[in-house]
Amino acid sequence: MAASPSRAGRRVVFFPFPYQGHFNPVLRLASALHAGGFAVTVFHTDLRTPDPTDYPSDYRFVSVAVPVPTDLVASEDIARLVMELNVSCAAPFKERLAALLVEEEAGGVQCVITDVIWHSAQAVARELGVPALGFMTSSAASFRNFIAYPTLIEKGYMPVQEEHRNDPVDVLPPFRVKDLQRIETSSLADFASLLGHTVDGARQSSGLIINTFEALEAADLDKIREEMPIPVFAIGPLNKFTPPVKSSLYQFQQDHQCLDWLDTQVPRSVIYVSFGSLAAMDPHKFVELAWGLADSKRPFIWVVRPSLIRGFESGDLPDGFREEVVDRGRIVDWVPQDEVLSHPAVGAFLTHNGWNSTMEAISEGVPMISRSFLGDQYGNAMFACNVCRVGVEVQVEDQSDRGKIQDAIGQLMVNKRGKVVRDRMANLKQMAEKGIKEGGSSHTAFLNLVDLILSV
Ligand code: UDP
Repeated sequence: MAASPSRAGRRVVFFPFPYQGHFNPVLRLASALHAGGFAVTVFHTDLRTPDPTDYPSDYRFVSVAVPVPTDLVASEDIARLVMELNVSCAAPFKERLAALLVEEEAGGVQCVITDVIWHSAQAVARELGVPALGFMTSSAASFRNFIAYPTLIEKGYMPVQEEHRNDPVDVLPPFRVKDLQRIETSSLADFASLLGHTVDGARQSSGLIINTFEALEAADLDKIREEMPIPVFAIGPLNKFTPPVKSSLYQFQQDHQCLDWLDTQVPRSVIYVSFGSLAAMDPHKFVELAWGLADSKRPFIWVVRPSLIRGFESGDLPDGFREEVVDRGRIVDWVPQDEVLSHPAVGAFLTHNGWNSTMEAISEGVPMISRSFLGDQYGNAMFACNVCRVGVEVQVEDQSDRGKIQDAIGQLMVNKRGKVVRDRMANLKQMAEKGIKEGGSSHTAFLNLVDLILSV
């Protein structure tokens, strides 16, 4: 989109949450608005810092010090960390934002866009008289899951009870109990309170942005619009709105050579395996996965980032595994995922179904093998495999997962079912492409967002 003089100098402040899956879509939106003529300031915490050289030189970066205990940052109690971050960021964010407002000409800052879960930052922006918009980095269905949380607890669906895992959830079809949003946390009440604050904050915001598209989640978007008295913008897949954004928050070793290696592989033959930036697995699950991959006899790229395996050092692979897969397996710390998924040699994505990964797979037309770990991933996997039917789900519930992984790979890569799933995925990819073209729903939503930002 060409820069317009009416937008020149109009600044949009972004404050993404310091997790890769929350950071990427917000920075992709920043890039689209920047291409549309807006000035961009990115606030970030001092916990994980983006590299300014990855971005246009006129982006401004502002570091916000958030004093949270280091053991909490390293722990898997994400709910407690998110709550602690909300508490500890409010005062320093207020100070930094107030300073920026003084520095900018009056009216220079149009709005603040934060992750919906930064509810305290949204409140600070409003307090300082700056319109705040919320960004939901997962799906519309997940946001409905947030809204329904108190009812889910009241009706006894949460916490999940083993014997009811497969029961349908009457207030949130087509979710089953096992698909509901949940994470390891010391307190379900605290998690529910976090989601409550998040929904309340979004309700008071000037608008809600979701990285999805109308044809994908029409019913969920309609329901949110019925329940929230604010504009809701479905702008996705955001990874297709702008050229790839290099927004790694971690010091992982980026492997670019895998792209050269992919060039040497047969089209649609390679399985790309990645579980995103947060998931962690026990060593025995890791070993089962490794042998499931080896037994499939397929070429693969596997992202084994540091901290994927609890208690293991990165690269600590089962005995004999490396020798077994030496000719056809690449094990790497981190890759430029959008480039890998768009490579014609990739035939399937063994994924945890983080929402970004799910949207990136859809936008590249790569069918999924779903192996979810936590949070919204359960619902996203159900959505991909049972609603869109563009993937096959692996239920990893017992000790011998290797056979299940091998089976799922076979179903997708070899069996007739694989062809049906691939055709559906190609169709869904086309729908996503249609949405981002001029006149498409996501493109129109983006223009409406620009109008809203200019009008607030
Ligand atoms: N990602 C990447 N390289 C990797 C693994 C992941 O660039 O080796 C990116 C991926 O493209 C996605 C993000 O990290 O944009 C992960 O977000 P997602 O929502 O899929 O999962 P999360 O990390 O939040 O669990």
